Amino acid sequence: MTPQIESDEHKALRAAVAALGAKYGRTYITRTIAEGRPPTELWQEAGKLGYLGVNLPEEHGGGGGGITELSIVLEELGAAGSPLLMLVVSPAICGTVISRFGTEEQKRAWLPGLSDGTRLMAFGITEPDAGSNSHRITTTARRDPASGDWLLTGRKVFISGVDLADAVLIVGRTEDARTGRLKPCLFIVPTDAEGFRKRPIDMELNAAEKQFELTLDDVRLPADALVGDEDAGLLQLFAGLNPERVMTAAFAIGMGRYALSKAIEYARDRTVWKAPIGAHQAIAHPLAQAHIDLELARLMMQKAAHLYDAGDDVGAGEAANMAKYAAGEACVRAVDQAVHTLGGNGLTREFGLASLITAARVARIAPVSREMILNYVSHQTLGLPKSY
Ligand SMILES: Cc1cc2nc3c(=O)[nH]c(=O)nc-3n(C[C@H](O)[C@H](O)[C@H](O)COP(=O)(O)OP(=O)(O)OC[C@H]3O[C@@H](n4cnc5c(N)ncnc54)[C@H](O)[C@@H]3O)c2cc1C
Repeated sequence: MTPQIESDEHKALRAAVAALGAKYGRTYITRTIAEGRPPTELWQEAGKLGYLGVNLPEEHGGGGGGITELSIVLEELGAAGSPLLMLVVSPAICGTVISRFGTEEQKRAWLPGLSDGTRLMAFGITEPDAGSNSHRITTTARRDPASGDWLLTGRKVFISGVDLADAVLIVGRTEDARTGRLKPCLFIVPTDAEGFRKRPIDMELNAAEKQFELTLDDVRLPADALVGDEDAGLLQLFAGLNPERVMTAAFAIGMGRYALSKAIEYARDRTVWKAPIGAHQAIAHPLAQAHIDLELARLMMQKAAHLYDAGDDVGAGEAANMAKYAAGEACVRAVDQAVHTLGGNGLTREFGLASLITAARVARIAPVSREMILNYVSHQTLGLPKSY
């Protein structure tokens, strides 16, 4: 048997999702952005085909696969120019956390809808005064002794897709754990709850999904809004954050591949001297480098997804960080080189590549910035001292 990096099933999934992506493509996404609406048709069709919940348990309507499969879905949709950002959040973070730590009731309530896309969940950890330092988050849950309900108060920022979501999985901390190292608690907060307010942030991003600032003002939640154990803390959180990093890598690799394919197509045809511009090494070599960088990033992403799906949370953590870093950097470089390859056309709306310059930066900043990954690798992997 010929050794292969990807199984035949994975290759078949890749091909099938690529076909769906090709049916929609960049033209569809550009149209939804112009109309100021989300890519609902693509989301719904992907849901019907079972792609949105490939990682979720079969008994709750999912495909029974893992992050490996879900990352294939996102990468291929992105490579076709039509990524679905909410895949990073709804099935990958929220679906994973609920299926690993939720009660039977929470699984029954949420997983079938997250799997077929009829329900959607956003995820909120980032706070204005904490930023990269999640230990400083102050969104606080206190118990109402009379009813046993939780009352949640705090602010979140840059939360994606809240307008599309039925609920937000909010990372907070309990009152008695308000100071010191983060002991996070995860709450399912319905977007129509009293005291929950959202305000869209005016982003310079040409994307179908929007970001929001959230204010939670004594939002009353039933006792069973808490997902998992109040004391399990970081373990549960990272069960969601590692898939998020793998999926951000998939998002970045998909976008990088899309930009690169447009540049290659252009460089093969465009002739201003004797041969097409792609014959000049100054054009060809950076494109070849971008391709190599994307391939390398994919290998690390596959490693991270494989470790995660095999249950190695610690090993997956390191690999997922490295994969997100490598993919973010590869994406930024591929997009930059693609724009440059098109000359003036790289900046026209007709070719639609310039707006990817901003979009590509998202993978360098979120969900954890390039510098914070370099910090993680410096301290955790290399054992170097910390400066902060
Ligand atoms: C499009 C988009 C979508 C997002 N969606 C979500 C979402 O759905 N849910 C959610 O919770 N969050 C979301 N985020 C937030 C994202 O995770 C944060 O922006 C990110 O974690 C960085 O935090 P910050 O913006 O506060 O930057 P800061 O923490 O203020 O960092 C600013 C700069 O300082 C650097 N820096 C900070 N600390 C150090 C250090 N110790 N050493 C070296 N450099 C340092 C950073 O690398 C960065 O370059 C989204 C962000 C964007 C842009």
